[in-house]
Amino acid sequence: MIQSINPANGKLLRSFDPLTPEALNAKLTIAAMAAKTYPNENLDQRIFWMRRLAALVEADLEELAATMTAEMGKTLVSARAEAAKCATVCRYYADNAGRVLAPEHIATEHAESYIRYDPLGIVLAVMPWNFPLWQVFRFLAPALMAGNVGLLKHASNVPQCALAIEALVRRAGFPRGAFQTLLIEARQVEGLLSDPRVAAVTVTGSEAAGRAIAAQAGWLIKKTVLELGGSDAFIVLPSANLDAAIANAIKARCINNGQSCIAAKRFIVHERVYAEFEKRFVAGMAALRVGDPMLATTDIGPLATPQIVDDLLGQVTRARESGGRVLTGGARIASIEGGRFGNYFQPTVIAGVMRDAPISQEEIFGPVALLFRVGSLDEAILLANDTPFGLAASAWTNEDDEQQRLAVELQCGCVFFNAPVASDPRLPFGGIKHSGYGRELSVVGMREFLNAKTVVVAAQPAQPAQPEQLKAEPNAEPKPEPKTEPNAEPRSGKPSEFLHIADQLRKFEPRNAAPQAPKSEPKSGQSDRLREEDARPDNARPGSGSILGLR
Ligand code: NAP
Repeated sequence: MIQSINPANGKLLRSFDPLTPEALNAKLTIAAMAAKTYPNENLDQRIFWMRRLAALVEADLEELAATMTAEMGKTLVSARAEAAKCATVCRYYADNAGRVLAPEHIATEHAESYIRYDPLGIVLAVMPWNFPLWQVFRFLAPALMAGNVGLLKHASNVPQCALAIEALVRRAGFPRGAFQTLLIEARQVEGLLSDPRVAAVTVTGSEAAGRAIAAQAGWLIKKTVLELGGSDAFIVLPSANLDAAIANAIKARCINNGQSCIAAKRFIVHERVYAEFEKRFVAGMAALRVGDPMLATTDIGPLATPQIVDDLLGQVTRARESGGRVLTGGARIASIEGGRFGNYFQPTVIAGVMRDAPISQEEIFGPVALLFRVGSLDEAILLANDTPFGLAASAWTNEDDEQQRLAVELQCGCVFFNAPVASDPRLPFGGIKHSGYGRELSVVGMREFLNAKTVVVAAQPAQPAQPEQLKAEPNAEPKPEPKTEPNAEPRSGKPSEFLHIADQLRKFEPRNAAPQAPKSEPKSGQSDRLREEDARPDNARPGSGSILGLR
């Protein structure tokens, strides 16, 4: 059973039967048909739909935010920000798809050699509940712009978010089958992935889910991206602006009620500033307001499920057993102001846990921080890297040489200096070690599910002149054989290895091709904002959609 339960009060909101094997197969058949036709849609058309999706997300922002809060407990304030970010990622890929998908010319001895980027087909996305919109949008925006077809298996506790996303994509105009939500349970993923019509899979979730799916995908030899857990370090060194470091440490631990892969989980503080950091960090965590996620005054809402509260309690107990001192919090909150009951947990700080204790190596998914004191930069780096995970790190220092060393030596997918870690559509996002592999977002993320196809056209020797031609032109000199030189510049004569993008577009423009007007018009009843968006001239980019074979 797939259920939507409000974690703030335990009320069942809706329940759904998982798809039967027949219904699932029918959806897969629709996706397979879309995978044949959708990639042929003109790029301008796809850009148009993507911009319209962005506008629809903004038009429905309040409703979407309320659905997220009701299903998984994030504060309404943060849910609104999440929905707004989804619109941003749609626009980022609408703006940049032409550039990312354009063929790349490489200078070789051949007459022509280039890389084209072709979609793979059906990509299955297995997604978590913690950012129920953002995680899906950062998959679907690049996938649909690239001409791939998406199938979403969302976490079982956020079915209403999953259905809302599918409805938005359809309303934006994307063809039937380009993106579908499948209300299925985790156990149904195996059969789906083994279907030959599914080309690839992306998983965002726990290490256990990633391991199970990647093992199967590896056996099937299907492309996989894994975005898994993290135990990110937050390093504070003596030159840091301590006010900013402490304020951001609290935010970085408690973002999304503490349930974020990139939430800082291990706070590694230099002994010269440790005492002050500990005192103010603990006070700040203790002062956070835990309560109704719908209220603007709430800092931390309920955790998504009762199981997460139980897991956290177990981790706090084990931290105590490993020498940890609970400096604040450490317990479930049975009831909050207003008499509501829910999955609430006190913001917690624990110091002194042994570094080799199992708890120091686990992901802590809730508002519980582990605090460590170190005597040097070397020790900070050693401790930061002493984890099976490698997602991200935030380091607070104003020393250039320390930044240089940390950038090189921290074993993770991204390092932020003097700022908390955050995802950004323009920058690659992902981890190493048990945090997974592959990247989302940016150019790099879009290319994960594209076939980088090498195309080579060999130089042909010129045809020797025929005797008849020589007779007709008695004074004509025979033409010399064309010479091909290794590393010759491309035929445009441009000095660079890669042709400028505008040249590429012109070069591949079929003669007499006119840009296609987008097929679908906005339907009446949509917001004024939406119509304004559609009227913008940049919805149509003459030329960019008519590149030979550019999808
Ligand atoms: P989860 O329990 O692993 O679930 C994630 C998704 O995988 C859900 O759709 C789940 O379906 C499905 N799933 C679980 N086990 C599966 C299996 N054996 N086979 C097929 N599908 C399976 O994780 P979660 O609790 O939703 O999310 C929290 C985790 O995600 C944390 O570890 C967090 O760090 C990680 N995360 C990582 C990133 C990143 O970018 N690196 C971002 C966000 C979250 P059901 O719901 O039906 O079980």
